[in-house]
Amino acid sequence: MDYYSRQITKLIEELSKLPGVGAKSAQRLAFHIINLPKEQVELLAGAIIDAKNNVRYCKACFTLTDRELCPICSSKIRDHSTIMVVENPRDLAAYEKTGKFEGVYHVLHGAISPMLGIGPNDIKLKELMQRLQAEINEVIIATNSSLEGETTAMYISKLVKPTGIKVSRIASGVPVGGDLEYIDEITLLRALEGRVEL
Ligand code: ZN
Repeated sequence: MDYYSRQITKLIEELSKLPGVGAKSAQRLAFHIINLPKEQVELLAGAIIDAKNNVRYCKACFTLTDRELCPICSSKIRDHSTIMVVENPRDLAAYEKTGKFEGVYHVLHGAISPMLGIGPNDIKLKELMQRLQAEINEVIIATNSSLEGETTAMYISKLVKPTGIKVSRIASGVPVGGDLEYIDEITLLRALEGRVEL
């Protein structure tokens, strides 16, 4: 199988483990990297290692950050009594880009999926429930409108309701199966404004 040097084969192999990178893309990337100036390659490799070493989960909302508390959780002007629950940091970024949400977030890092064997304990749900012991006015569930996202939303609403805290779900203007991060800002805002209480 070693059509190229062992090192290139290894590079292709590692790149093809990345999500969304098939064998062909991995080859293309590997050759691209080999053809880059050495400094460029060092910058890329350094950025990967630096990110891995310095990025961690915010201890409140579990988004990725380089501090103990992310800038949103440590902000004094955000409304800490409104928590929007999202599946991943990319969804958080999508809502932040709209600049219209003044509350804080909770990042689940996944969604419940019986098919993939992902249960409630595999995502940051316990951590969400712990946060609800503080003074919280509303939990807005903004998981994707995929089967997994809906299952997760239902599960969360069942958990939160007995606490008496208001639970709402973003409107289904978001196309079914649509990943939040690919949806434009206007649709996101409409979904947020049109949220319904569960
Ligand atoms: Zn945070």
